[in-house]
Amino acid sequence: MTDTAVYRAAPGSPAEEPASVLLPGHDVPLGRYTTVRRLLPQRARRMVGAWCFVDQFGPDEVTERSHGMQVPPHPHTGLQTVSWLVEGEIVHRDSVGSLQTVRPGQLNLMTAGRGIAHSERSPEHGATAVMHGLQLWIALPDGARDGPPAFEHHATVPAVADGGLTARVVVGEFGGARSPATVHSPLVGVELSLPAGGRTALDLDPDFEYAALAMSGVAEVAGAELEPGVLLYLGLGRTSAPVRSAPGCRLFLLGGAPFEESLVMWWNFVGRTHEEIAGAREDWAAGRRFGAVDDPAGPDARLPAPALPTSRLKARDRQGTTRA
Ligand code: MN
Repeated sequence: MTDTAVYRAAPGSPAEEPASVLLPGHDVPLGRYTTVRRLLPQRARRMVGAWCFVDQFGPDEVTERSHGMQVPPHPHTGLQTVSWLVEGEIVHRDSVGSLQTVRPGQLNLMTAGRGIAHSERSPEHGATAVMHGLQLWIALPDGARDGPPAFEHHATVPAVADGGLTARVVVGEFGGARSPATVHSPLVGVELSLPAGGRTALDLDPDFEYAALAMSGVAEVAGAELEPGVLLYLGLGRTSAPVRSAPGCRLFLLGGAPFEESLVMWWNFVGRTHEEIAGAREDWAAGRRFGAVDDPAGPDARLPAPALPTSRLKARDRQGTTRA
């Protein structure tokens, strides 16, 4: 954990306060067979703390014909990936030698650092034929982003029960419980389950900005009606947020200290400059840096990087403002 103060909004930056903004995601293809709902980044909101990417998928049936999730080996830099499922299983393989199935309630956390490659696939003969969950990225701050690649699996994470609310602490600290997951900036990720008719008030840190999404069911969060496929941005400066759900729900709460470094996000890379991203792309194309994944589709089944755009990639801050 690095110094919290680094991530606080600088004095004189625009006032930031509680918000309640519904941001509908959009559908994007993932691999050959899957469509996911992208909730971050969006034009109106690029980050929530260090969280810089949120894909929601399913519930989708996995059959011999539909194949489920089939994402061949591809590279990452400068980020961590969090896989968190509601239903089903995903098999993760990476270039530091990991082979790890993730199931509901378990955390797969991959740290790319200066470079890693991985594949993600629905199991070939899985007993479970539904795919439903989240994949999130956490931007690594300077000081951690050039570190070595790593992978962690946590078979359980701490859970806190309070009235009808069950909170599973995926990353960071919530309700007095701390996740064992290794992170590099002040942030939190929590799965919240409420039974039918449940209501509660979430304890929040006023120095964090937050967003919530519904993985299943619907809920009213801080006065906004939240359903799957939409991100609710809650802003900063809240000490609590009311939640209630008539049918019951499973939500995911994201939060963190505002991330003050500008990022270049392109394809699977998070960096700071055009040159850095172009270098990562070149290394992947040349078979350097990222190592090999022992993937069932064989050594040639790797995703080729798309062409770089003709204009230079620009760094954007968390509000989406570009810097020269
Ligand atoms: Mn990936």
